[in-house]
Amino acid sequence: MVVDTTKRLGGAFVVYCPNGKIITRKLKLHSSCSVFQAELKAIEQACVWLADKHIPNAAILTDSKSGLQEIGNPNSTNQIVTNIHRMLDNHSLSVNFIWVKAHTGIAGNEAADLAAKAAATSHNVPILIKFPISFVRKLAQQDSKVASEQFYQDNMKGGLETADEVLARVKKAVDARGTGLKINKVRKAKNQKIILGCDTEDERKKVQQRIESRGDGLIVEPIKNKDPLVILKDVIIDSEDEDTIKALHAQNKDVFFGLNEKDMEMTVKYKKRTRNPRTVHIVLQVKPNVWQRMTEAGALYLDLQRVRVEDQSPLIQCTRCLAFGHGRKFCTESVDRCSHCGGPHLREKCADFSAGNEPQCCNCSHSGLRRTDHNAFSADCPVRKKWDYLARANTAYA
Ligand SMILES: [Zn+2]
Ligand SMILES: [Zn+2]
Ligand SMILES: [Zn+2]
Repeated sequence: MVVDTTKRLGGAFVVYCPNGKIITRKLKLHSSCSVFQAELKAIEQACVWLADKHIPNAAILTDSKSGLQEIGNPNSTNQIVTNIHRMLDNHSLSVNFIWVKAHTGIAGNEAADLAAKAAATSHNVPILIKFPISFVRKLAQQDSKVASEQFYQDNMKGGLETADEVLARVKKAVDARGTGLKINKVRKAKNQKIILGCDTEDERKKVQQRIESRGDGLIVEPIKNKDPLVILKDVIIDSEDEDTIKALHAQNKDVFFGLNEKDMEMTVKYKKRTRNPRTVHIVLQVKPNVWQRMTEAGALYLDLQRVRVEDQSPLIQCTRCLAFGHGRKFCTESVDRCSHCGGPHLREKCADFSAGNEPQCCNCSHSGLRRTDHNAFSADCPVRKKWDYLARANTAYA
């Protein structure tokens, strides 16, 4: 859904439905409105539309930082904002508010096309308010759900209810002491989600029922574990992804013996550059049993090569700010951080590095850890290990 407030303070929002359908709604705003009010009004109208259509999950993208800050303030006295809050609450709408950089010009059809493609793969209905074309392109390239979550996490922490507030509501609803329900794990996740763990499926169902009946609109979903990743090393670039996958299937029948078609589904997640400009590392997402066969085999035939195959961590680290959980494309920092000393420069230009001084990991010093004498990309970094563990906990290896 694109809501665009124009200079005349008219506007429209366009809804990109997951099925690819595009709906346009025009808005009329009073001429005495300030731009700030007009932006909030546009968001309000988008929420009205969602409530009206009983769409519980959506993402609203806007370049109005001040508008989002106001919406993120639970004690706001702004009339439009309190309206929005009430509406979200009354209709149990779960809306991701996402800030995007102001647009540099909207190429109507092209943008609509890309956003519709992005929406088609997502469970959320994206609502774009004055969107930048570059962002829509990013959305279309990436798994749009992941992308919007990432943008949300990076740009709009807080939202309507903090994770702590949601946690308090969950605790109250479950009332473990009173009910005797057994929960063995509680963890805050991004997007104000709370992850609960139980020992048995039976116990999990009871907890879910309890939260659904007492949670006052809290939504409970079982976690779907993601499929694991493998990395194919130093593959010569000469074929399309599709052909690479076909070749892997055809040339390694002994490795995949007995597996059915469904097991064999795999996708190229991304490619990594290597020192050799003629080769890449290919990261594939595969089914758990294929992951097992591939990592056991250690190497596979591919065209005229025998390529090395290794397990690939699902954790991503930003090559710009060196933080975990988002890639460079979604980084909100504007300068590169040095992996050697943490300073605002690339490692190639690091004075400490060329002087042979010991490294200082910016993630570890940021976390207040005592030992920081390693590179921020190091596999031994304890902060990385913690994140790696969390990323793997949501991956299905068997
Ligand atoms: Zn970053
Ligand atoms: Zn440095
Ligand atoms: Zn570290």
